[in-house]
Amino acid sequence: MRIDVVTLFPELIQGLCETGITGRAFNTGIFALQTWNPRQYTQDKTGRVDDRSYGGGPGMVMQVQPLADTLAACKAEGATGPVVYLSPQGRSLDQAAVRKFSQLPGMTLLAGRYEGVDERLIDQYVDEEWSIGDYVLSGGELAAMVLIDAIVRLLPGALGDPQSVECESFTDGLLDFPHYTRPPQIAGQSVPAVLMSGDHAAIERWRQKESLGRTWQRRPDLLERIQLSEQQQALLDEYIREQRAV
Ligand code: SAM
Repeated sequence: MRIDVVTLFPELIQGLCETGITGRAFNTGIFALQTWNPRQYTQDKTGRVDDRSYGGGPGMVMQVQPLADTLAACKAEGATGPVVYLSPQGRSLDQAAVRKFSQLPGMTLLAGRYEGVDERLIDQYVDEEWSIGDYVLSGGELAAMVLIDAIVRLLPGALGDPQSVECESFTDGLLDFPHYTRPPQIAGQSVPAVLMSGDHAAIERWRQKESLGRTWQRRPDLLERIQLSEQQQALLDEYIREQRAV
């Protein structure tokens, strides 16, 4: 997959290529990342890419020309797929959207700064707007990095064990079950006995029940969006009964 990012701060984005899963995926060619700085495409001799907001008020607005020319350059050099503007006014990013993006051959991300981008640029060049949450960041770079990280870990070969993706939160509409590692006892707390029983069917049942129970406790809104099987409903009912009995 190829990801292009239009940003005034390419060094922030490039950090993704240096560490962790995204760093390894970049170095092994699982995804390609290219950054484009609008300052290199502005026709303003002083390198400006922003100006005051019509109508007054505080803050600057990113201008159409530098961004339009950057997007054109990026396309001319092979960028493919939708142009996505990271914006607090976009649709809320979720795992389903990330999964769809991960199946594309490429996409171009536009990171805004200041008060954002001239609306005419959005109207003419942006295919989709996505938000990473109901709060306002200083710039779209962190949002772009969140999106890239979430996409890259779904690309084939990015994770050491591809099964990791299958049992994660949101994959089947539920939260993940709790995890434990050695030692079996610490500060008076034990690992649930079933996990050390070696009984794979019992472990699987426990995990499913915990996953359903956690979702019910922490994110009931997620449960409203999925249809539980009879077996899942029975497990959840059992979890709820146990909680109420405590
Ligand atoms: N004036 C804008 C508003 O109130 O909707 C906020 C602009 S914000 C200070 C600057 C840039 O940060 C935006 O253009 C966008 O690219 C990015 N940004 C801020 N919050 C974001 C969020 N929650 N999700 C995605 N991008 C965000």
